[in-house]
This record gives sequence, structure tokens and C-alpha cells, in this order.
Amino acid sequence: MGPTTREPELVARLQGLGTTVFSEMTDLAIAHDAVNLGQGFPDENPPPAVLAAAVTAMEQGHNQYAPGPGVASLRAAVADHQRRFHALDYDPDDEITITFGATEAMSAAVQSLCEAGDEVVVLEPAYDAYRAVIALAGGVQRRVPVRGGDLRPDLDRLAAVVGPRTRLVIVNSPHNPTGLVYDAAELDEIARLCVEHDLIAVTDEVYEHLVYEGEHQPLAGRPGMRDRTVTISSAAKTFSCTGWKVGWACAPPPLTRALRIVKQYATFSGATPFQHAVAVGLAQDDDAYRRQLELLRGRRDRLCDGLEGLGLGVQRPQGTYFAVADVAPVGHDDAEDFCRWAPGAIGVAAVPVTAFVDDPAPVRSLVRFAFCKPDAVIDAGLERLAALTEHR
Ligand code: PMP
Ligand code: GLN
Repeated sequence: MGPTTREPELVARLQGLGTTVFSEMTDLAIAHDAVNLGQGFPDENPPPAVLAAAVTAMEQGHNQYAPGPGVASLRAAVADHQRRFHALDYDPDDEITITFGATEAMSAAVQSLCEAGDEVVVLEPAYDAYRAVIALAGGVQRRVPVRGGDLRPDLDRLAAVVGPRTRLVIVNSPHNPTGLVYDAAELDEIARLCVEHDLIAVTDEVYEHLVYEGEHQPLAGRPGMRDRTVTISSAAKTFSCTGWKVGWACAPPPLTRALRIVKQYATFSGATPFQHAVAVGLAQDDDAYRRQLELLRGRRDRLCDGLEGLGLGVQRPQGTYFAVADVAPVGHDDAEDFCRWAPGAIGVAAVPVTAFVDDPAPVRSLVRFAFCKPDAVIDAGLERLAALTEHR
């Protein structure tokens, strides 16, 4: 976030990346004992059945290396999940790879598919890891600036940015940090561009089960997209287990074979017992998914109602567990300054949306608050934010 100093020992292509905004804000929260509504992690355990499955897996001896592509039961569970929720068919052996979180899937996809010098298109605001994995690959980022106002993707600008050097486009919906869920017209237009320009899409769908308004539709389901898309998701948000780092990539065999090469030498495989547990989680009935969604919907409304009551302009998210609020109405024009100031001054940590863009102008005073927290934590955060009106 912001300008970073040159690291003398770091390779040129990674200069400027610095420490992530999520770590920076969590460190500030800890230092000031602030309510942490910054980094997106739930304060609670995974569902009891999922937790128990991890313990059982360890007790039953699943404690050695998983196969490189992931344990068979989880690959089968991901295949069932894609069919059940999205009507997409993937072969567990040749088209599904279990990764060390969605982050490793993204990294393996970009590093294996992007030749040095190829262009990778990213729609702003964009999750920070995309910049890093493109840099690791030696790719050239083409960032599509965000429209002001509703923050929806600017598809005219996207079309203008795609050119002969473009190889990949990264698409994140439900979207961090805006909470937007891309609609059918947006997905159709992205798909049209991919087909017309023969691009590969890499999608980040880690919030696929946290959709309160609208419907999550995978880009891979659009005509012509299945065989040119790497669909990435993760257990982190769906089962409140961000520390387990279990993710997956679904892609046609040639793309799968490519990304497995990178994955194989990055980590070889992730934690075996957690893979067994996530297989149990994915197979839960619809009610289990619905309960978690309704719990989070209540928390979304609690946080958003509270922020609105304090006079912050809030865009109620359609999905994810983040809400973006404007702190300008309470006298703070710069989100980055606000987020560095707030943990010490009023005891609340949040994340500036400016950290997700190159050009901060359209989002200068927008701050992201996480609501994947118990009601008491949300209330404590709101109580402390109430001091904002006194600091004006
Ligand atoms: N993509 C997005 C959009 C995210 O918000 C996050 C953070 N959880 C990730 C990827 C990382 O997922 P994982 O922890 O599974 O690597
Ligand atoms: N995805 C989380 C967020 O957006 C952060 C994950 C991380 O700290 N790398 O808050």
C-alpha cells in the first residue's frame, strides 16, 4: 500500500510490492487492541462436522503427503459441488487440482499460462495477490480503472484494454472489496471478449456461497468459456477456515496439466487432513450452506445499518463479507490516512479501498469493513466508530 521503499536484495520484477495491506492493518489492530474489521477472517470455528472431520482424518492416519493433485475424496467432492451448484462437469482426475488456498491456484495458473511479457488484464479494484502473481510470472499488468459511483466493472474500458498481447483476464465475482456480484450482462460481455480475442479467463470465486442479492454464476458456464477458463475457489470463506488454506482449480486438461507443473514445485501438496475435512464440508446439505448465508446476511445488515446510522455512506454488498463505506461525510477525505489513524485514535481497524487500485481518485475516501464477526464484535466496532462524529 502506498509507496514502498526499494528492497536492495529483491529481484527487480517484485520491487514495490511491500507488505500487504491486510497484514499492515491487522498489525495495527493488535498494537492498539483495536476491533479488527480489516483483514477478512471469521472469529469463529468451522461448522462442527467439518472440524470433527479434520480431527478424525488425523486420528485415522491421514498425516502424510497428499497426492500432488489433491486427495481423491476432495477432488470428487469438488466435482460434485460444481455439478450440484453450477451444472458444470469436471473430471476429478484430469480437470480438478487441490491447491494451497485460492492464492496458490491463482499463482500456479498465472505463472504457468502467462509467458514473460504477456499482458494480463485486471479489473480494479483488485485483490492484491493478482498484482504479485503477475509480477512473479513476468507478465505485464493491464489494469482497468474503476468507474466512480456504483463501482461496477467498466466493460467499455475493459474492451479498450484488450489487445494482441493479452493472454489472460482475471475475473473476481463475488467481488472483494466492493461486494458486487457480476450480473449476466457483465459476464456475457467478458465472455464475448475472451472468445473474440482468444483469451484465457482465470476466475476467483472464493465468495461463491456468500451471495445475498443476485446469483453467483461462474464465467465458465457462459458459451465458449468452459475450455478457456480456470475456475478457482477455496474453502476459506465457505467453511470459516481461512487458516486451513485449502483451495482448488477446475480447468480443462491442457490448462490443468500446465498449472499442476507450477503447483507441484511450489508446494507439491497442501495439508492432507484438511483436504479430507473440506470434502465433508462440500458434501453438506443445502441447509448447512443456507444457515451460514443467513447468519452472514444478518451481520451484513447489522454492520450496514450501524454505519448508515453514523452517517457513513454505505453500499450494501450483494455478496462477500465486506461492506464499503464512505468516510468523507464524517470528515475524512483520505481512506489510507483514515485506516492508519483509526486503530490508535478510535480503536477500529479497517482496510482502505485505495489499496486495491492504481489510481485512487474514484475511491479516495472509501473504506472496507469486514462483517464476518460475531454481533458483539460488530457492535463494539460500531460503538467505537461513533467517536468519529466527535472527532470532526
Ligand atoms: N481471493 C480473494 C478475492 C480473497 O478475498 C482472498 C482472501 N481470502 C483470497 C483469494 C485468498 O484465498 P485463500 O485464503 O484460499 O488463498
Ligand atoms: N482475503 C483477505 C481479505 O481480503 C485477506 C487475506 C490475506 O491476508 N492475505 O481481507
